[in-house]
Amino acid sequence: MEKNSEDIFLRVLLAEDDLISQKLAVLLIKRKGWEIEAVFSGDRVFPLLQEKKFDIILMDIQMPLMDGFEATRQIRENERLTGEHIPIIALTAHAMKGDMEKCMEAGMDEYISKPIDEEELYKKILSVHEKFSINKNGNRYFPADFTGLLKLLNGSSEDLCQLIKEFLKYYSEQAHNIKDAIEDSDSLSLEKYAHKLKGSLANFRAKKACDLCYVLEKKGRNSELSGSAEIFSELSEELELLHAYMTEYCEHM
Ligand code: MN
Repeated sequence: MEKNSEDIFLRVLLAEDDLISQKLAVLLIKRKGWEIEAVFSGDRVFPLLQEKKFDIILMDIQMPLMDGFEATRQIRENERLTGEHIPIIALTAHAMKGDMEKCMEAGMDEYISKPIDEEELYKKILSVHEKFSINKNGNRYFPADFTGLLKLLNGSSEDLCQLIKEFLKYYSEQAHNIKDAIEDSDSLSLEKYAHKLKGSLANFRAKKACDLCYVLEKKGRNSELSGSAEIFSELSEELELLHAYMTEYCEHM
């Protein structure tokens, strides 16, 4: 399948203290079909990152309690321990001279000046996402990344294996439901089951499988089922890789 920007599913964390700017950004992100969670101050960003997984952060600069620079530094400092790198895009009220440098110094990857331009927002989000989603693990392809989930589970790989075993018990049934929906040209069921499986996969950061489910979900929603059988077969292959990877992980326990 050709990798198309329309097929990427992202979870966005927005920190913006101005209500109108926040609502507008939420609207634009949702319009793209992505998920977004918004907070009003920089000091809420780091705790939220510990609770949930996000793919990208949109960070206003001037905020009460903790500004965007400080919040970014806090995140980057912690990443020195984890080896991760979440892309952060600064939202600046006025592109002042030197703003760009200050953003980069604080550890931000990109910046957008407000008022936000819709096309620029999508373009920059996708470009930083692509830049940092490159597999850093060498040659081997990993169909999932358990780091985030492990952290949520306080590092207990035993608990992680419990979750993996639960997933391995029911995912094939979910995949079967998707297949049936495609064969029956049942758009509603396709949307429903693809959305459901996507949600489970997202916890394991099974990025590719997640993206494929998202494509199927959208096809269901738009009642445009052409090509969905091909995408499903790609999803099946990816799920097989994931199954093998998960089994291998738990065997080492
Ligand atoms: Mn602000």
